[in-house]
Amino acid sequence: TIQIGGLHKSFGKLEVLRGIDLSVDPGEVVCVIGPSGSGKSTLLRCVNLLEEPTAGSIRVAGVEVTDPDCDIDEVRRGIGMVFQQFNLFGHLTVRENVTIAQRRVLKRGRAEAHRIAAENLERVGLADKAGAYPAQLSGGQQQRVAIARALAMDPKLMLFDEPTSALDPELVGEVLAVMRGLAAEGMTMLVVTHEMAFAREVASRVVFMDGGVIVEQGPPAEVFGRPREERTRAFLHRVL
Ligand code: ATP
Ligand code: MG
Repeated sequence: TIQIGGLHKSFGKLEVLRGIDLSVDPGEVVCVIGPSGSGKSTLLRCVNLLEEPTAGSIRVAGVEVTDPDCDIDEVRRGIGMVFQQFNLFGHLTVRENVTIAQRRVLKRGRAEAHRIAAENLERVGLADKAGAYPAQLSGGQQQRVAIARALAMDPKLMLFDEPTSALDPELVGEVLAVMRGLAAEGMTMLVVTHEMAFAREVASRVVFMDGGVIVEQGPPAEVFGRPREERTRAFLHRVL
């Protein structure tokens, strides 16, 4: 689904990604871990061209997104993205938040969009909150609405950038439970996370980044259980 080769990204003189090769296959859950500033968000944002790569190749479902002729809107329609900040529209109800892009981007009719919103709110355990406004919800509920909004677009791939880091600790679990459910359904997911227990349990593969490169990657049991690289060991020692 995603094939990244030789990806470089600089901001001015600052080289943030220094040659990333990474692939994510259909149905895989790839968790990216690493210290602050290592380039994790930048990597994720390059996948749907929210950042323009300086060099390298990124294919999403076979389409080279860096190709000037690529229809990036078309590629983005297939990718759901969930950020640390939920970015819901405060003046719209939950139902409206989950239907607006379906109607505007996918041109779905009102009834169909409402039906799909209801299905996806059910999927994240918020069927009873359709008429509420974001401010009436907890952070965990708001993030689950953001996930339902992404899912309502029928993405083939979901990108998550620290979806639980802005949440109070007691609300983290409900969001991770929704993500665990998606993984179990076979959704392809690329997840930047600080939740090591989640990565260990749910990831098909864990990628450790430091200083703009992938230091090592492998099954969670290997990366967490017997890391090969000293930098990985030092990082895990700090966070576990
Ligand atoms: P964190 O765990 O704190 O979220 P990260 O691994 O996601 O960190 P990035 O957000 O990808 O790291 O940032 C990597 C580096 O790139 C940082 O030094 C950051 O300051 C820099 N950077 C990111 N975005 C920009 C930008 N738009 N302009 C300039 N520098 C940027
Ligand atoms: Mg980040």
